[in-house]
Amino acid sequence: MAALMKTWPVLLLSLVVPGPAAAAPADQSPGFWRDQGEKALRSALARQPITGRARNVILFVGDGNGVTTVTATRIFDGQSRGGRGEENRLAYEDFPYLALAKTYNTNQQTPDSAGTMTAIMTGVKTRAGVISMGPAARRADCAGSRGRELPTLLETAEQRGMNTAIVTNTRVTHATPAATYAHTPERDWEDDSLMPADARKHCADIARQLVEFGHGDGIDLVLGGGRRHFLPVGEPDPEYPRRTGRRRDGRNLVAEWQSRYPEGRFIWNREQFKTLDPAAPGPVLGLFSPSHMAFEADREQAGAAEPSLSAMVGGALDLLAARDRGYFLMVEGGRIDHAHHYGNAHRALVEGQEFSRAVQVALDRVDLRETLVIVTADHSHVFTMAGYPTRGNAILGKVVGNDEHGEPRRQPTLADDGLPFTTLGYANGYGFGHGDDIHQRLRRGGSTGRRDLSGIDVTDKNFYQEALVPLRRGERAETHGGEDVAVYAAGPWAHLVHGVREQNYLYYVIRHALDPAP
Ligand SMILES: [Mg+2]
Ligand SMILES: [Zn+2]
Repeated sequence: MAALMKTWPVLLLSLVVPGPAAAAPADQSPGFWRDQGEKALRSALARQPITGRARNVILFVGDGNGVTTVTATRIFDGQSRGGRGEENRLAYEDFPYLALAKTYNTNQQTPDSAGTMTAIMTGVKTRAGVISMGPAARRADCAGSRGRELPTLLETAEQRGMNTAIVTNTRVTHATPAATYAHTPERDWEDDSLMPADARKHCADIARQLVEFGHGDGIDLVLGGGRRHFLPVGEPDPEYPRRTGRRRDGRNLVAEWQSRYPEGRFIWNREQFKTLDPAAPGPVLGLFSPSHMAFEADREQAGAAEPSLSAMVGGALDLLAARDRGYFLMVEGGRIDHAHHYGNAHRALVEGQEFSRAVQVALDRVDLRETLVIVTADHSHVFTMAGYPTRGNAILGKVVGNDEHGEPRRQPTLADDGLPFTTLGYANGYGFGHGDDIHQRLRRGGSTGRRDLSGIDVTDKNFYQEALVPLRRGERAETHGGEDVAVYAAGPWAHLVHGVREQNYLYYVIRHALDPAP
């Protein structure tokens, strides 16, 4: 290919459109990098830790938002705004302090969200699948786990008279949000229909634990999806009347919540969310979907009933600001993880971009002298960015590399099998077959080899990035990654976020920020 290009440079160049970097960008001069470096140094030297008590804490958890995802999202976000991308900064990338967190569970090298969020919320690492219970609790062992409940930061905040809020775009009963308020040896017990009979007798499902939450004056605001776990079988969903609740105990937990909190407001669509009076008293329960909320990339087509993650964060902060006490707010960008599990980088990056927007909404409203903001991921994914693409190459595109002079080539780089490949890929997952069922492909006598992507638009929303190891389609297909995740922090005691830490360390930082030792 290189030889061909040497022989026919004029012909090849005349065949292709001009690249993005036609005019020499400013960063081609040494002065640009010297100025940039000096400026960064001055700002680091001027940095002073904030050691006053944190009035408020906002914890942002990007589920599955590992470092590769952050880098790719940064470039995607920059390119979607017309830049080359690499120079872009996400909202939390200007935070002054950063640590790496080791994410393993007590019984699992590569962790799950239940165990990791338990570490952050209770200060104790535990087993995968277990929610805010100690590591001696065996998964799904109701009887054996009793008495192993661990107090969470959100519960403690309520007990201290703070306001509390949970915002997620997954079901509010899903592992990450559940670890803020529930205690269960099995993350899948989102309602009673998902529990074995003996567990139903002695353990409460997660939706019930949310409604029966008994600390302080209750959680001030909960926004997310998951209506089906709150409504009984036969009770029509308010938005999709043909779909009914899932509960087998006949309980309507929305009605129970309403009678428990007579001033409480239950909302289930974007219109009700938009017209919510943030100054009115009483708690708010917003359940905007029967299951998870839509991917941000699909939200406008999904029936317009759902607010975005950033809009929900804005609404939550309006409500919390209207109440005169400090608050603990947990925000989960929960669907970065799901898009990765599907092997679909496009949706994952759009989710990551919306997660950054949600952080920006918070930064625009809070005073960092009194509000500790932590942004982290619970775990990573087997997501890679590779192949020597040239500067500004479309992050979702095929790798187009540089020539022997470091100048961009015009055609995709070819692998040893003569086929092009994308910058983003997965070590395992559904994309092995690019949407084909691998078993069907083998039955039809097809090969398990790579497919020719030459004529395929790999930036399409529904393209599944190539994966090395085939795993079936679905929410638990492509797997989590086991490497450390970044923790970004700003505000009071944010300087404690440094070094390589066990993930449960975050609990102690937050606790200290809220109540510094004299
Ligand atoms: Mg989650
Ligand atoms: Zn996951």
